[in-house]
Amino acid sequence: MTSPRPALLAVLSLLWNAALVWNCPSASAQQRPEPVRIVGGPGGGCIAGAAELPASGPGYQTIRASRSWFWGHPDTIAALQTLAVRAYAAGLPTLYMNDISRPRGGPMTGIHASHMLGLDADVWLDVRPKPRLSPAALDNLEVRSLVTPDGRGTDPEAWSPEHVTLLHLATGLPGLDRVLVNPAIKQQLCRVVTGDRTWLHLIRPWYGHTAHMHLHFRCPAGQPECRDQPPPPAVEGCDASLDWWFKQLDAPPAPPSPPRPPAPLPAACTAIMAGGPGG
Ligand SMILES: [Zn+2]
Repeated sequence: MTSPRPALLAVLSLLWNAALVWNCPSASAQQRPEPVRIVGGPGGGCIAGAAELPASGPGYQTIRASRSWFWGHPDTIAALQTLAVRAYAAGLPTLYMNDISRPRGGPMTGIHASHMLGLDADVWLDVRPKPRLSPAALDNLEVRSLVTPDGRGTDPEAWSPEHVTLLHLATGLPGLDRVLVNPAIKQQLCRVVTGDRTWLHLIRPWYGHTAHMHLHFRCPAGQPECRDQPPPPAVEGCDASLDWWFKQLDAPPAPPSPPRPPAPLPAACTAIMAGGPGG
């Protein structure tokens, strides 16, 4: 990690708090005036009472706002803000935050299979200093891939030790269930992380995710209608289970399968998606 900047961070926090006191409406997360209620699980669901991540805050800014959604469980929003502050304190530049969930969750058809419960968030793996960009430029931002075009490794021009710092910080967030990244990124962590490796089991390989990490949080307390998936295995995962992903690169492409209709949402989501807490 690079050296902390506690003094600078303290000044930043003071300025930000001052903005809150001076009634800057975009500075704090806005929550829908209804009880928080998550219904569903990995197969689909929805959320009432979600909060919206402000467009910017200490250590982060949102990108692609015209085609993205930034609503989530208040704990998810707070965790993302914590990640940004901790990353900044560790010497990283401002983070780019992207999709969380729609205002009431539910499908993000054609974009994400998950992100339905307000418990998922995409954070870009861009640890370069960020220039000041116009809203239009932020809206059209493309972040470079960390993975080589053949999918077999990380690009040495793009990879940096700060990526390890950011991924490690993500695994330490309250309520964090797992972090999804491309198998080549997981493989790189397996190679370079020294000392404490106990957090590696929370970094899970998945398709895509070459330029961003997908954070998934567990069902928060007090949400009996929210269903978790089984926790990730408590092993590093730097083994044959990771090799499997690279063997798939050599396999002939599977014949296209007919599109499957999405699974129906839980019945209680009908009312929630229509605009009420459904209770
Ligand atoms: Zn995602």
